Amino acid sequence: MADAYDNIISLMRRIGDRLDFNKKYPNEKMVERIAISDKIIRFKTIIGMDDGTIDVFQSYRVQHSETLGPYKGGIRLHPTVDISDIKALATLMTLKTSLVDIPFGGAKGGICVDPHKLTRTESERLIRKYTHRIINEIGPNVDIPAPDVNSGQREMAWMYDEYRKHREDARAVVTGKPVALGGSIGRKEATGAGVVTITLLAMKDLKITSPKVSIEGFGNVGVQAAIDLYKSGAAIVAVSDSRGCVENRGGLDIDALVEHKKKAKTVSGFLGGKPLVDILKCPCDVFIPCSLGHTVRKDNVERVSAKLIVEGANAPVSDEAERTLLDKGTVIIPDILANAGGVIVSYYEWVQNREGFYWKRDLVNSRLTEKLTEAYEKVKRYSVDNKVSMRESSYCLAMDKIASTTLARGVQ
Ligand code: GLU
Repeated sequence: MADAYDNIISLMRRIGDRLDFNKKYPNEKMVERIAISDKIIRFKTIIGMDDGTIDVFQSYRVQHSETLGPYKGGIRLHPTVDISDIKALATLMTLKTSLVDIPFGGAKGGICVDPHKLTRTESERLIRKYTHRIINEIGPNVDIPAPDVNSGQREMAWMYDEYRKHREDARAVVTGKPVALGGSIGRKEATGAGVVTITLLAMKDLKITSPKVSIEGFGNVGVQAAIDLYKSGAAIVAVSDSRGCVENRGGLDIDALVEHKKKAKTVSGFLGGKPLVDILKCPCDVFIPCSLGHTVRKDNVERVSAKLIVEGANAPVSDEAERTLLDKGTVIIPDILANAGGVIVSYYEWVQNREGFYWKRDLVNSRLTEKLTEAYEKVKRYSVDNKVSMRESSYCLAMDKIASTTLARGVQ
């Protein structure tokens, strides 16, 4: 995903021109003020391994913008994590929180590690040490970490506990915690559930009935998206993860596939489908990438048959691939809208922690659906009125709001 950051910044520049920032905000350097990260923290996290050796992990926290509220964003654990990745992902968080109208800025953290190679005790030491290294940078009103690729409730519990040990007992310091530690009901499912809410809205507009859907990535987001879409009556014709891909053109039995994944740790070997080398080879109406960045690129974009792509992951479609797809008439619902369900329920968790009063599942879910529907309708309206893609529309709305707030706050 090496050029994802450059792509986002050049799109932000183009949107700045479209919104006429130079005329609207003369001498304010508005695009630079919005685009450049506030603070980039790069450090090493050193831990003792179970076998007595020492290991060193390159680590990051990028605080991109706090114009609209405290920094907010997940912690990614993956061997491909690098500074350019984290800068891109932090920038997307700023745009996402602005677009869906929640009072946060944007940030992202990451550790370059293959978490599957660590034991439970090594993982705990790594997360605690990472938290300790950024302890002065985070806090419930400052910067609020959350889950991302390969981090979840377990890691958030350790982060919260480490912060409590060294600072104060503030549950709102991280979101995505286990429910027993103040996590919100519905947070774990929220990103995938939100992807499905947006997919159903877009399918209705595009008049896609009885859809055939392919889902790339079968982690927290992909699994939940598959479960909810399967319940809605869609045929999930192909699913892939980092170790394999299965296809069943009549539709996979998702309940059975989820059970298989729990035991085998991969979709590979599932007897209710045929193995497939490349998920893009399975014809479908809707494609939902839910893993890492740049899944759809210049070299494989010709294979995409879907009329609708919903970005469950962050930055799964490269800039060049997007241009080709838009020329063919494919509709792409961008990450900052499609996968915003996670950070929306993170906001609800933060509110509940501060109120000390906890909501029931129905309330969390109905507020999530309401917020995403509002954002989707707003993006669609702007896109139709201004004849721009759904991504450009989302960026215009997000940047316009950050720019007017930046001006109102003055020079910080
Ligand atoms: N990592 C998620 C995202 O990319 C969630 C962030 C959060 O809940 O703060 O949106």
